[in-house]
Amino acid sequence: MNVQNIMANLEAKHPGESEYLQAVREVLESVEEVYNQHPEFEKAKIVERLVEPDRIFKFRVVWVNDAGEVCTNLGYRVQFNAALGAYKGGLRFHKAVNESMLKFLGFEQIFKNSLTNLPLGGGKGGSDFDPVGKSDNEIMRFCQAFMYELWRNIGPDQDSPAGDVGVGGREIGYLYGAYKKIAREHSTGALTGKSYGWGGSLIRPEATGFGAIYYVERMVKQCNDTMAGKTIALSGFGNVAWGAATKATELGAKVVAISGPDGVCEIADGITKEMIDYMLDMRASNRNKVQDMADKFPGKAKFTANKKAWSVKCDIACPCAFQNELSEDDAKELLANGVKYVAEVSNMGCQPGAIHAIQAAGVPFAPGKAVNAGGVATSGLEIAQNAAHFNWTAEEVDQKLHKIMNDIYDMCVQYGKQADGHIDYVKGANIAGFMRVANAMLAQGII
Ligand code: GLU
Repeated sequence: MNVQNIMANLEAKHPGESEYLQAVREVLESVEEVYNQHPEFEKAKIVERLVEPDRIFKFRVVWVNDAGEVCTNLGYRVQFNAALGAYKGGLRFHKAVNESMLKFLGFEQIFKNSLTNLPLGGGKGGSDFDPVGKSDNEIMRFCQAFMYELWRNIGPDQDSPAGDVGVGGREIGYLYGAYKKIAREHSTGALTGKSYGWGGSLIRPEATGFGAIYYVERMVKQCNDTMAGKTIALSGFGNVAWGAATKATELGAKVVAISGPDGVCEIADGITKEMIDYMLDMRASNRNKVQDMADKFPGKAKFTANKKAWSVKCDIACPCAFQNELSEDDAKELLANGVKYVAEVSNMGCQPGAIHAIQAAGVPFAPGKAVNAGGVATSGLEIAQNAAHFNWTAEEVDQKLHKIMNDIYDMCVQYGKQADGHIDYVKGANIAGFMRVANAMLAQGII
């Protein structure tokens, strides 16, 4: 494989799909050396096949808002790769959603799902529907209209969507209700992130954040260090940041910043249980303003407009919101303030220049596809429980999640350990995830 040639070809075929091209380049650069040691991969054109999705569904979604106006959005489902199992990955509702964004997310999902060691293929979907400021009824009507198109192409053994940015437990409830009504069957494994009691798994809401902190705990331990007393800056205040804040606080670390599109809340004494609970209300309000935390807890949280979480001094930085949210300048600010570890919890949360600066400074950096894999892993556990018509206890799920994250961490070390002894977590995650998919594709023939 010659990465430059493959990328030039892809750029010509998919001009302007910047996030997708960025995600592909990162993976190919990591796996190039290993790939070229396997002539059988080259012969089967594994990479050329892997970078193009199996198929993309694109559809119109029409719904009526509370003012009685007819609204039109675009809906998508990218079924990227099914070598390891039925397509699996979330749905993102955000005004910036387009095909490039969902192709990048679907591509990342293939390797992330592979790292979990569960039988999960990779996919992603969503819509340019903007949930900000929408009423509960508008969200319900949109979800129903979206499912009216999507239902034909999903199912437990076909493709199983879940949540992502803008899609949480409430949206999955409306989507599943519509699916059940249209498909006329209670196929619980067709969607994950359902509530407990009608097919949902305990610990699924917490899983992405818990898993991320389990991974970070190992990174910290690797440096003979401990979580207790560490200061952590998180971006966002959604489901992922909520889970991470809960587990980090439980382990004795101090979450000193959360942020939103409007600015940052600095929490000098560390986030409290009441504040963590309030993050759920902030998300449910659809206001998308982190300032609400400072208004609710004056004296504890200090809001600064138009600033990011990376402006706050911390030991551990965890982007938990959106792709490319941490720039090279942000990385330099974090480094100047003495950051010791950076772990992406959002998908591709750091820009390539930021990753480069962090790694060049010798600060351990872990990529989203490894750190945030606990979410989809627990979705896999939800599907397993659905298939067995059975529920595990919270302790059982948490234990399995913890083991999966430990195994992912070990794989990243195994494949990422460099000659000088330092661990390149990006390489480790990409190579470990890639090998399983490539070997499965090879075994399954030219399809
Ligand atoms: N959206 C999450 C992710 O990026 C979860 C996907 C899932 O559970 O299927 O992995």
